[in-house]
Amino acid sequence: MKDMLSHAYKHQYAIAAFDVVSLDFIEGIMAAAEAKQAPIIISLAESHFEYFDFELLMAAVEKAAVRTDIPVAIHLDHGESYKSAVRGINLGCTGVMVDASNLPLQQNIEQTKAVVAMAHGCGIPVEGELGYVPGVEGEDAERHPGEVVYTTVADAKTYVDATGIDFIAVSVGTVHGRMKGEPKLDFERLTEINRALQIPIVIHGGTGLGEEQFHQLIKNGVTKINYYTALADAAGRCIANNATSTGSAGYTSLVKGISDAIQLEAERCIELWGSAGKAEALLSCCRPTLPVEHVILYNTKDLDADGIKDMMAEGKRVLSEIPGVREVFTGDVIQEDGNYRYCWVVRFTDRSVIDSYRVHPDHQHFADTHFRPYAADGRVSLDYQASLLDEDSKA
Ligand SMILES: [Zn+2]
Repeated sequence: MKDMLSHAYKHQYAIAAFDVVSLDFIEGIMAAAEAKQAPIIISLAESHFEYFDFELLMAAVEKAAVRTDIPVAIHLDHGESYKSAVRGINLGCTGVMVDASNLPLQQNIEQTKAVVAMAHGCGIPVEGELGYVPGVEGEDAERHPGEVVYTTVADAKTYVDATGIDFIAVSVGTVHGRMKGEPKLDFERLTEINRALQIPIVIHGGTGLGEEQFHQLIKNGVTKINYYTALADAAGRCIANNATSTGSAGYTSLVKGISDAIQLEAERCIELWGSAGKAEALLSCCRPTLPVEHVILYNTKDLDADGIKDMMAEGKRVLSEIPGVREVFTGDVIQEDGNYRYCWVVRFTDRSVIDSYRVHPDHQHFADTHFRPYAADGRVSLDYQASLLDEDSKA
């Protein structure tokens, strides 16, 4: 995601970050990005987690990202806590947003800094936010009152320098969800922020902006536009039309055509924001996400069968929670004459996790108390980075 947004920043276009809430959204958005040969960011907003199972939808998003030819980033939108960011990364997000923008600057800095240290240790970039963009994704801004709090240049500089975030979401007059009339944007402020920071800028609340406003935003450093409400409205209109035209209340009759409606609106945005046709250029300069398998083959000593099982179960529980760990596999050898009776295979998001995992206190504690005292000498421990074959280099 960092390479994607750096390219967009350098070449002055914006990549669409569409929030998804169902398979219809994933299908419509991927179809649009493929038709337009555009890089794409699929976002999952924590404020939407009541509408879908994050873990289940992530599996589909990741599959969509891996099987396509275009570059895809997977983003946790409005992560509410450090814990949410870890969960997002461990489930496959390749970018995370930490939203502590409701807190005073110093506390926002502290919280963001902690997430940045953790995420960078997993090879994952972070979006921070400063200022206040009213509303909630997909809901009317009028239902979530509150004045726009504009991001100031001085605070933004302090925030970026202190936290080390990779991208910044700023408040220059947009709102989440719908609002009456066209919002007034403070382009002068945006120009100054861009000049002072020189990092990719993110705009939340893209729905309802006019063509010229988008062009001005992109001209001034905006490289990621978060967009959801208009897609949700297109889906909603489709359902309403189906209900009228078919007279049926059956689920499949009602939802028929939703992904096409979403695709249409997504294609319009991609065209408007200049990311159409950029997929190929991006693929040649983006570092792909390459997971690493941390493999340990071992034998045990001084443990009976139950003791071995307990040790494995405890390891699986503890190690799975460490940032950058996608999956923990523990196995018993099948061959009678196998030299190593047991294995761990721990999948990391990125090779940088080899170091952050080793020194993580939970890993050290488990290894010191549960594993090393019972692991016989002569075990094998190696890390394998996924080979860069054509098929799996896209996500
Ligand atoms: Zn937002």
